[in-house]
Amino acid sequence: MIAGWEGHFRESPAASPIEAKTQALPDVLRIDVSSRVYLWPYGEIRRKHKGYPGDPVILQRGDQPFPELVIYDPSFLSHLNEAVPALTRHLYKPGTLPGRVAFGLGVAGCLAGVIYFLVPLFASWLAPILPPSVEERIGSILVDNIAPESALCQSPSLNQAVEKITDRLCASSQPAPRLSVVVVREKVINAMALPGNRIVIYTGLIQKTRTPEELAGVLAHEIEHVVNRHVMKSWLQQLSSRLILYALVGRLSGPITSLYQSTGSMMILHYSRDFEEEADVKGMHRLEASHIDPHGMVTFFETLQSDGDTPELLTYFLTHPSTRSRIRQLRDIADKTPGPFEKLLPDLDWTTIRTQCS
Ligand SMILES: [Zn+2]
Repeated sequence: MIAGWEGHFRESPAASPIEAKTQALPDVLRIDVSSRVYLWPYGEIRRKHKGYPGDPVILQRGDQPFPELVIYDPSFLSHLNEAVPALTRHLYKPGTLPGRVAFGLGVAGCLAGVIYFLVPLFASWLAPILPPSVEERIGSILVDNIAPESALCQSPSLNQAVEKITDRLCASSQPAPRLSVVVVREKVINAMALPGNRIVIYTGLIQKTRTPEELAGVLAHEIEHVVNRHVMKSWLQQLSSRLILYALVGRLSGPITSLYQSTGSMMILHYSRDFEEEADVKGMHRLEASHIDPHGMVTFFETLQSDGDTPELLTYFLTHPSTRSRIRQLRDIADKTPGPFEKLLPDLDWTTIRTQCS
């Protein structure tokens, strides 16, 4: 047995993350959660995605996206690989896949190329021509699950404030579709773009903002995910990669399960580094074009970074990059933005508004 690592464990997308202690035993990874113990055989453990350097390590068991285990120490995998190298090589080497899947890909190496090169191209091509009615339908199913009427914040003052900020961002010279932004009453610190030009934002995040400009920064980033079709592109990429993988290893029932899992895991959709950078940079330009001080986006991310790994923040860090280099890049852009800026919602007391629906 080697040293333990601390992290969080989540049973389902809707469940709150709970503290977990992890130990590497000779054949299994032992996970202690409250009074329960999970033993995950190394051969069945998979990484959810590679993430950014320094990002938390996110693991799942087998094909099921949940439960998931998040370990914050990025050196976890290299330590694990030193302790049980034969059993954890598939986790440590980025891009390799375990067991039967690795064998299938080894035999059909050219098909792996299809997954990693042609599928993203296919998704980029398909996303813009997908009929709006299909995207709208997918979006409405997701919103019914993520943000049902009963979970929405009913405060007129907070909803109007969010609407005014969104209108200002969409009225700038940067084109934007007609957006639907809903505020969900929950402590989670997160915001997400969904198909059908929708954005969901949680009251936990709004409470964390110190100024309307900070909220505008978060919204500008999400609006760019919508405008640049990142949601459907990422979802189609993820879905088609899974379908091909299932076909390779001959699991005929896989595609149906895959379709279901991809829809479910959209709640924690992880965009590529390119998409995140595009949303960051274009979001800053949108703020500038709207005459909103872009430093709000920077200070908000700095607050999150300084708050560390609290359970409420976990969801945000699972779906957004949180590296220092990202903040540095945003500050560089903000410092070069000449202004002048017009104060957002000057007549409102933001300290009062942001805590509505808390
Ligand atoms: Zn993002």
